[in-house]
Amino acid sequence: MDDPFHLRQHGITDTAVLDAFHKVDRSLFIDASIRSFVNVDEPLPIGEGQTISQPSLVAHMTQILEIKPHHHILEIGTGSGFQTAIMAKIARKVTTVEVIPALYEMSKKRLTDLGFDNVSVILRDGHEGYIPHAPYDGIMVTAATPEIPEKLIDQMKDGGRMVIPLGEQHAAQRLMVISKNDDGSLTKKKEMWVRFVPFVKTDSSVK
Ligand code: SAH
Repeated sequence: MDDPFHLRQHGITDTAVLDAFHKVDRSLFIDASIRSFVNVDEPLPIGEGQTISQPSLVAHMTQILEIKPHHHILEIGTGSGFQTAIMAKIARKVTTVEVIPALYEMSKKRLTDLGFDNVSVILRDGHEGYIPHAPYDGIMVTAATPEIPEKLIDQMKDGGRMVIPLGEQHAAQRLMVISKNDDGSLTKKKEMWVRFVPFVKTDSSVK
């Protein structure tokens, strides 16, 4: 199998993740004007001041979430929909939440047009999660926050995992894997340093 982003060299060993990258064309998730950069392992602009992460980071985050084929995943920060699509190739279902209306509209249409019938795109503040589909086997947060939103912990299944960039916004954050144990307690594991756009607080999240 070819490996355009050299994911194996970046430590990606999960064949489900490698296979998903083989099936999803990243060029369909970015603007035509920057398509010549599509195979570069760098973040790219997707409009509204937001970015699509570099492929090796999307792959790493997906690998450490340990998604199984029967899982229902909640993603916070749909952005371009690329990571949504990667996870939707592995999981049974992905519910993804985006707060910027223009990105929500664009990604919802894109994912529908590409035939992803196991994805629900929701317009709302991700601090609230999405209760109608909860609880989730895994939660992927793709924006930086200084603390883990309480409502997201509530919406994780016992035995579930969350991948979240934790730390000050506009600085480097620590990617964390949060596991919810069967007694409801949390185990936190530190991963690599990362830089994400801020997980913005809206009026509904500060209420
Ligand atoms: N996973 C995306 C990258 C997302 S960048 C991709 O593959 O393209 C982070 C996204 O989080 C941005 O689209 C941003 O608008 C969104 N975001 C920031 N704060 C949010 C919030 N409070 N609720 C939901 N989405 C949020």
